[in-house]
Amino acid sequence: MKNIPVIMIIFGGSGDLAHRKLYPALFNLYEQGLIHDNFAVIATARRPWSHEYLRGQVSDAVHETHSEVNENNLAEFASHFYYQSHDVTNVEHYETLKNLAQELDDRYSSQGNRIFYMAMAPRFFGTIAEHINDQHLTSTGFNRIVVEKPFGRDLTSAEELNKQITASFAEDDIFRIDHYLGKEMVQNILPLRLTNPLIKNVWNNENIKNIQVTLAERLGVEARGGYYETSGALRDMVQNHIFQIITLLAMPEPKDLTSKSIHEAKQELLSSLVIPSEKEIAAHFVRGQYLGSDVTFGYRQEPNVAADSQTETFVAGEVKFKKGPLAGTPIYFRTGKEMREKKNRIDIVLKHKSNQYGRAHSNNITIIIDPQMQIFITINGKKINESGIRREDLSYLFSQEEQNQVPDGYERLLHDVFINDSTNFTHWSELKNYWHFIDQIEEVWQKENEQGHEPEQYLPYRMGPKAANKIFETPTERWIYD
Ligand code: NAD
Repeated sequence: MKNIPVIMIIFGGSGDLAHRKLYPALFNLYEQGLIHDNFAVIATARRPWSHEYLRGQVSDAVHETHSEVNENNLAEFASHFYYQSHDVTNVEHYETLKNLAQELDDRYSSQGNRIFYMAMAPRFFGTIAEHINDQHLTSTGFNRIVVEKPFGRDLTSAEELNKQITASFAEDDIFRIDHYLGKEMVQNILPLRLTNPLIKNVWNNENIKNIQVTLAERLGVEARGGYYETSGALRDMVQNHIFQIITLLAMPEPKDLTSKSIHEAKQELLSSLVIPSEKEIAAHFVRGQYLGSDVTFGYRQEPNVAADSQTETFVAGEVKFKKGPLAGTPIYFRTGKEMREKKNRIDIVLKHKSNQYGRAHSNNITIIIDPQMQIFITINGKKINESGIRREDLSYLFSQEEQNQVPDGYERLLHDVFINDSTNFTHWSELKNYWHFIDQIEEVWQKENEQGHEPEQYLPYRMGPKAANKIFETPTERWIYD
């Protein structure tokens, strides 16, 4: 593998994301030789850490995520890490950061290449981007920026942030990360759709009745109540992960597999995204909030959550497009906290057509993303000793060995940043459409709040509020996974 020379600057280097995801992922890339002799990382955060302390943290992070570690490699890897105590709002600190980056550039011969990673609270993204520009932190080689979610909290703030970032970075150098796009089964959607005529030929609005995307979490908000109050399920999960999954399911076939063609196909689809009316939102969207139990808090009792909070911890809704193979086909989605089990899955429900055998079972294609990786297709066959049709599943469950080979989403996506492949990152044109849709729902819900309509309450560890069973367009539709 090619050794890519680069200095990477991580804003938020003492945070949870850096520790649990970025350092272990970088170690794996280091072991594979993608980054090796000519790379260094500057981790910045407010705490007064030393280089040595940071290196200890990096080592701990690798040990916590790897069952076996080559200690010599790890020590050598950690020696490439440097710590810079830094307050992102302080101009002078950017000077120090710039000087350190230049010094490391010389020491590691990294050819003036820089990757900036924004791994801190989103309210700082704009400030950091502005300082990178004003204090001239970009260098003479490539300059790429990785931006964590959420990218804005509505279209207006996302536009403002985008303006701040594009002052220093071209669109092609901005990597808006959505770790769902690094998941194996999400990356499997296009190959599954496009490479098998049995599937490819039915992937259209003539044969598909609806699609159902479920991203269910078993956990509640835990210690993140304060953040969640500013977000809610719609912004936290739908605006990014659910929309990206839906886009892959509904986009037209790209002309080839280059990043450019894939983003063009996505854009073609998204330009036809239907923005639902107030009436449609009332009929096809449900928001909910989890209640407590004998042993758990309800959402409104969680720390840092308002006692009369209207923030939704569950949302179900519908997305439709005017163009693409699924033009007009309902794509339903659901996501929530404190649901029955952690399960991310997609159910593609085929239309039921009349036939000589009378009633046959509905046929579905199901992709399970997490926690196991599985694809199954339901088929109909004859009952053995009586008349009638029985249902069977054709299933492919990834073996443990295969699952072990799958890199973590962050490793995959960081690798893509290093090799400059933006296929699995969100482009601005996509994001704009997603926010437009989300803003419309938020606006209607805001009106509902003012009229005294509250989110539906739901019991913990079930499948969300009962009202979510009534969002369908026709009475014959229902959640396949219930
Ligand atoms: P965190 O609170 O654990 O870490 C925040 C970091 O920012 C810390 O290093 C802190 O010292 C630093 N910081 C805060 N204020 C600062 C200031 N004024 N100047 C300099 N540094 C300052 O947050 P996190 O969980 O690591 O999340 C970081 C980003 O990653 C967020 O955008 C989050 O949405 C995103 N993200 C996190 C995860 C995860 O698993 N933690 C997953 C997906 C996305």
